[in-house]
Amino acid sequence: MDLTRIDVAAPSRPYPVLLGEDLASRLKVHLDEIRFPDRRILVSSPRVWRLHGARVSSGFEALALIVVPDGERSKHLRTVSRIYDGLIAAGADRGSGVVAVGGGVVGDMAGFAAATYLRGMEVAHVPTTLLAQVDSAIGGKTGVNLREGKNLVGAFHQPSAVLMDPSFLRTLDRREFRAGLYEVLKYAIACSAPLFDRLDGDFDSIARRLAPALLPVIEECCRIKARIVTEDERDQGVRRVLNFGHTAGHAFEAVTRYRRFRHGEAVAYGMLVAAELGHRRRRFDTGARDAFARLLWRFGGLPPIRDLRTSELMEVITRDKKIVDGRLHFVLP
Ligand code: NAD
Repeated sequence: MDLTRIDVAAPSRPYPVLLGEDLASRLKVHLDEIRFPDRRILVSSPRVWRLHGARVSSGFEALALIVVPDGERSKHLRTVSRIYDGLIAAGADRGSGVVAVGGGVVGDMAGFAAATYLRGMEVAHVPTTLLAQVDSAIGGKTGVNLREGKNLVGAFHQPSAVLMDPSFLRTLDRREFRAGLYEVLKYAIACSAPLFDRLDGDFDSIARRLAPALLPVIEECCRIKARIVTEDERDQGVRRVLNFGHTAGHAFEAVTRYRRFRHGEAVAYGMLVAAELGHRRRRFDTGARDAFARLLWRFGGLPPIRDLRTSELMEVITRDKKIVDGRLHFVLP
């Protein structure tokens, strides 16, 4: 089996990202190799477990399986509380490890539970959506939403490993897959012109999820994220470029109560806002802005936004975590 290893040299905890087809059925071997705690608790969601549980659990001995709902509207403290209940029932202690199998929502919540239960236990991420593979599983940001806004409660807690199997992505519905592609486009605009060209040039094969086209894209995003997290673990410098599209994006999600958009779709609108701001400030020329927008719209349609009120969006934006000393920091291309 071809296995790619990317190292994240985060100061608080270095760890490997392993990427390989059918890695899902060999989790135990890889976790043993990195000496992940033997007492393992799986956390997943009903849909992911129904589709992939048999493969993941073959040869995997877990103390318990905790199944919690996913989707943005489940990402709150009550769901995390259910994970704590499951950890208590399983007799988990500080020497146990959480293995999160799911999309970004399961990863963020299981990661947060691992960061806080008994003041911290180890976590390994097994991301199953494109968004989670290219972005959320790497970097140690964990947390949940409050009614007042996204990810307002959380902790930095680096995983012990990230184990990625692109074959998970075959069962993703088209909309979820596309939502992940918007995050890929974020890396392309914020960090890598070659990635932009690859996305543009191989668009059809990537959209059809053909492994030879898709794998290098996932790998490139992981390498970028690993490099950035190594340099700036806690979001105080260069890591903030990855917030490109997120300031307005989070506001789109919040004013629609997390019902209308997939996270990546909201980020897509946020990137269009940032691109326009960048253009007006003469930092993003007309040709670049238009090429970016053309590629973004090639992905397919986005949910409508005509009915949203600018004043409500602005109110959320001014509560953003990216406000430092009263000034809103906006990432421009
Ligand atoms: P999600 O976890 O809710 O998953 C989306 C849907 O896909 C769910 O219905 C889920 O059941 C389904 N699903 C998951 N894997 C599947 C598979 N293999 N086949 C079929 N269906 C599958 O959402 P997401 O888009 O993965 O993640 C979004 C979240 O990630 C947001 O809450 C966002 O804030 C967070 N995020 C975190 C970071 C970070 O650094 N921690 C970065 C980016 C985004």
